[in-house]
Amino acid sequence: MVSDAVAEATYLQVLNAEGREFASLELLQRQSTKYVLEKEVREALNGTRVRHERLIGRITITMMGKRVVFTLDQRRLRVNDKEYVLSEPPVSISGRVAIPVEFLVEILPAIVDRQVELDTENWTLKIKRDRFAREDNTGPDATVSPVAATGFRVIIDPGHGGRDTGSRTKIGREEKDQTLKVAQRIRELLVSEAGIDVYLTRNSDKYMMTTERINRANDLGGHVYLGIHFNWSPSQRSKGYTIYVNSDRVRLGTGFDLGAEMFSTGKSAESKLPESKRFLSHSKLLAKDMAKRLRKIGLTGEQEKEALLADMDDLSMPGVLVEVLYFSNQQDLKIFSSPDFINSVSQAFRDSILAFRDILENENPL
Ligand SMILES: [Zn+2]
Repeated sequence: MVSDAVAEATYLQVLNAEGREFASLELLQRQSTKYVLEKEVREALNGTRVRHERLIGRITITMMGKRVVFTLDQRRLRVNDKEYVLSEPPVSISGRVAIPVEFLVEILPAIVDRQVELDTENWTLKIKRDRFAREDNTGPDATVSPVAATGFRVIIDPGHGGRDTGSRTKIGREEKDQTLKVAQRIRELLVSEAGIDVYLTRNSDKYMMTTERINRANDLGGHVYLGIHFNWSPSQRSKGYTIYVNSDRVRLGTGFDLGAEMFSTGKSAESKLPESKRFLSHSKLLAKDMAKRLRKIGLTGEQEKEALLADMDDLSMPGVLVEVLYFSNQQDLKIFSSPDFINSVSQAFRDSILAFRDILENENPL
């Protein structure tokens, strides 16, 4: 936890093209970064805070007809459909949402469609008359995407794909196909639920890097991430589900399904960003609920195995990665081979996702 101590507070004057002050923003400093308050920037531009998802630290505001979405402690930020990366993330300082001054220089021009000039000697920010040269074609009056205004959004990541087949059953069923079947079935089951969007990171037999999957999940602004896998082991003793939640507490050793790119690379625990901790408690709730439902369909296993999931620390939502069962285990294969298996396991996941949505909505209406 970084200290909340504020070394100095001065003001940044915001000037219009004529040099007249139209806003004065409190300047906060933490370590070597200067910040302004989100509330003051928003009010200066007559913006509205659409949503503050406290649990995950995500804030959605609209200013000048643009939708701005950012998450505390995360450098990635979106303005409409365009993504930006700040060199320092927005943070909470004494309970107030603070954005690096860099935001005003790098991102504000795209929002107000005007060039800006920051003078760090006199601490003034001049909003000039010149239009901001845009490289996209969203136009100054681009409307807020209606999709982005929906409620609960689920991201399902069917493990493996393409040349990455994953594990295999004795009779040659490949993990990549089974994970896709489950993901598609969960989506079908959730489609009829009001106010729920479901996105799959892949919807075909396509090779994807883990980073691509995570980036897609983040781009889609999900509220929950579900990675689906099936496991394999040379030992008959290994059976049942394993549910991974992202954590820096335990580093995963080598495993069979866990080889390749999916898990622990050389990343050190120090590189973990604080947001993963914020999501961890929710990921654990989800894991616990899923374990309960998987037991109901006859599986046994291990819930809440914590692992340092390579790249998953960039996931900007709670998430779990579920190894549903072992393709190598006789008992598991028996369950897997029952004609209703894909449907029943998908129902278990659906029920868990719905329960999780209820938890989020009760804690903080979306
Ligand atoms: Zn796998």
